[in-house]
Amino acid sequence: MSVGMETQTQPYRLGEYHSFSAAGTEFLYLVPSGSIFAVEGIAKLVIELLGSGEMSREALVAKLVELGCSREEVENTLQELTEVDALQCDLQEKEPLAVPVQEFPLQRIVLNTTNQCNLACTYCYEYSEDKIAQSAGKEKFMSKEIAEASVEMLIRESAHRPNLHVTFFGGETLLNFSVMRSTVEYAKRRGAEQGKKVEFSLTTNGTLLTEEIVDFLSEHRIGVTVSMDGDKELNDRQRVFHDGKGSYDVLVPKVKQLLKRHRTNSIGARVTLTAGVSDVRRIYRHLTEEVGFQAVGFAPATASPQRLYHIGGQKMDSILDQFSELAAEYRDYALQNRQHGFTNASDTLKELHTGISKAYACGAGLGMLGVGTEGNIGLCHRFVDSPIGKMGSIKEGGINKTVRREFLNTHHIGARYDCHTCWARPVCAGGCYHEAYINQGNTSAANLHHCDWIRGWNDVCLKVYGEIAIQNPEFLNRFAEN
Ligand code: SF4
Ligand code: SF4
Repeated sequence: MSVGMETQTQPYRLGEYHSFSAAGTEFLYLVPSGSIFAVEGIAKLVIELLGSGEMSREALVAKLVELGCSREEVENTLQELTEVDALQCDLQEKEPLAVPVQEFPLQRIVLNTTNQCNLACTYCYEYSEDKIAQSAGKEKFMSKEIAEASVEMLIRESAHRPNLHVTFFGGETLLNFSVMRSTVEYAKRRGAEQGKKVEFSLTTNGTLLTEEIVDFLSEHRIGVTVSMDGDKELNDRQRVFHDGKGSYDVLVPKVKQLLKRHRTNSIGARVTLTAGVSDVRRIYRHLTEEVGFQAVGFAPATASPQRLYHIGGQKMDSILDQFSELAAEYRDYALQNRQHGFTNASDTLKELHTGISKAYACGAGLGMLGVGTEGNIGLCHRFVDSPIGKMGSIKEGGINKTVRREFLNTHHIGARYDCHTCWARPVCAGGCYHEAYINQGNTSAANLHHCDWIRGWNDVCLKVYGEIAIQNPEFLNRFAEN
């Protein structure tokens, strides 16, 4: 490789990174590219030398040769480090964080097939004091026609994408099972006619499952997420019927039947953590060992700080400690090629492995949109029937492209200035728009109230990733993007 005089004398410095060590090896998480780099041999020397300040390439090479490295190996290593953005010099053009997209093909729609629910969970974002959906006076149930028109929008707006997804959501989705059933059949037929494969998922509180519904879910390979908060005592603190009675006793036999009869797709539990329900270990053990779930994911309730169930800083620290313990257990399983059901760990490891570098915090408004019972289109399921994040209407020509473009311009990582120097931004990108709105009254604000937690959790996952990468690298192949 020939290196010009200008390049030789330019000062070199370390790029933006987060360092961590795992299994006795030093790693760099390279922020601009979202890649993970094991620092060994000459690379380690380079990092150490530049750690105390900038050096010209000429001086850097001379120093490394003086330390006994061959010139050719040094040149190759510097080339490699520059390519992954671990090294920077002033001659490199400064790339923008990312460029806002203008058009983006749709991949997923979330159909809120009803705004009614047979439970009255205290923390529910749809019914609690923090709700933003204005469902009063709206149709309680989505009609077959609106659901089918939504599927047509998905197909029409999906451009070249061959694989599409429909998620059924509520309220309690199974209150409108007949529309779910007809929509699955319709979407499969229309997808096939258009050369697209359509897959499905359902989020449910599980209390209305019947044998007939379970068989339908199994026949159509519908992935299921059941909202459930742990054992009877914990679950029934918040997940109650309208008369205040807990839902656990009704739910568990139905979930067991679901787990037994539906084997064609994944079935997971989703736990909402609140101030009174934060014993992650206990919940995980119960849901996997007693109920039989193979996948369990946790998310703190989205709530403004004045709500009783809002989780404060101390509780969040305890949750991080418990997440770390489960992540360590996940690692131990991975080293034995065993699958562990803690999906917070597997989801983050997948993102790290695929080198994700998000321009947007999530798919809302991008590849995904929500649709409400009357056909109002929202950023995602949490924004349907709300004036905030409204993206058009099925009844009025579908997606409002002007509004969507404006959203994409203003919610892009480049516009979330507080995140520009944060090493966790490739994975976080500022966080959930709904949470930002509830906490700060603005969907485009970065979720700065949880940054330490996000960085702490990503650091835990990076270490787990490093240990698996050193000790059982084949395990990581399962995270390869398909
Ligand atoms: S919200 Fe916080 S943790 Fe997330 S990218 Fe922004 S600064 Fe980082
Ligand atoms: S905005 Fe929040 S709730 Fe909606 S899809 Fe994104 S992360 Fe999920």
